[in-house]
Amino acid sequence: MTRYKSQSDRSRFATIAVGEPETETHPHRDGTNDVIPPIHLSSTFEWASGEDANEHDYSRESNPTRAALEEQLARLEGGEHALAFASGMAATSTTMLSLVPPGGHVVSSDTIYSGTEKLLVEHMAGHLDVDIDLVDARDPDNVADAVNVDTDLIWAETPSNPLIRLCDIQTIADIAEDNGTLFAVDSTFGSPYYQAPLELGADIVVHSTTKYLNGHSDSIGGVVITDDSEVFQKLGFAQRVGFGNMLSPFDCYLVARGIKTLPARMEQHEKNAMTVARFLESHDRVARVYYPGLESHPQHDLASEQMSGYSGMVSFEFDGTLVELEAFIEGLSVFTPGASLGGVESLIEVPSLMIPDEFSRSEDSAEIPETLVRVSVGLENADDLCEDLRTALP
Ligand SMILES: *Cc1c(COP(=O)(O)O)cnc(C)c1O
Repeated sequence: MTRYKSQSDRSRFATIAVGEPETETHPHRDGTNDVIPPIHLSSTFEWASGEDANEHDYSRESNPTRAALEEQLARLEGGEHALAFASGMAATSTTMLSLVPPGGHVVSSDTIYSGTEKLLVEHMAGHLDVDIDLVDARDPDNVADAVNVDTDLIWAETPSNPLIRLCDIQTIADIAEDNGTLFAVDSTFGSPYYQAPLELGADIVVHSTTKYLNGHSDSIGGVVITDDSEVFQKLGFAQRVGFGNMLSPFDCYLVARGIKTLPARMEQHEKNAMTVARFLESHDRVARVYYPGLESHPQHDLASEQMSGYSGMVSFEFDGTLVELEAFIEGLSVFTPGASLGGVESLIEVPSLMIPDEFSRSEDSAEIPETLVRVSVGLENADDLCEDLRTALP
């Protein structure tokens, strides 16, 4: 069902990740034989006509470093087209604002990134009169019940932030197709290494490249990948001409560099996450662990079927008061408290203490327990990570 299950396919993914993009116009091909493509910082390009005509004229419109990254991202995701944006939210908002008209209709899973929720509820519904249905997408029937033939877009985040819930991409893609509706998946938590929504029938995949794709917590970016040429044209036009929210050449370079180690990093993120999740599950001050790799996760079977690995995000419910929870966070020395995820270093976040946005969500959003803790398991020694948690937990 998934693309990269066989050994030969997996090695192909790693080869694409490490290797150069295929185009002849790749910046690589400038006669210097650089092993690493140069960063094209130029905002404009000398104009010429006829045979000498340049592929690029102005870097908001197109830029060689960005074009090379977009091609590589499309290949990694198994898609035709990719657009690199200035942030994950730029990718998300451009997708929604380009595909959903004022007064339109969006059905979204109810456990999503807080920025996406604000975009839907405050901007799309508040300013553009878009009808938003937030549904528990763990049961695809809830999606089917909310969708109709006038629905403009189905949006799902899987695995989701911060409750690590999944939805069945293939079944929702069928619902979208039956209703003639587009289906977009925010696949940030899985990364292209562990999840391939286009293969399962989704029309659009969105990633915050800030997270696993860049992987080193030093760049903000986003990407949209699609096989649908019409969607690509609409989004590309909005990005280039109207919104101007593209990824800078230097950030394109950082993401391209991060991608080279994506397969190796993801394997280790997953291994460490499994060790940390099992440790947490065995601790008596942990009420519940949310990690799709654990048999105790209610959607473990779905995760095993539609993902080729469980990635590195673990959430858990602390069994104690908020005061005790704060003391636990302050007692950690290997984990850094902070927002974001997917970098080489382990980060820990308590939405109720640190991300007030998570707690001012619309009442249709899934409820987040007050003592929920979200962990982005990094690449440190797994024993050190468990020891840090053991020492800090009461
Ligand atoms: C971080 C994140 C975003 C937003 O990405 P930015 O790069 O911060 O704009 C969207 N979706 C998910 C799942 C995220 O984790």
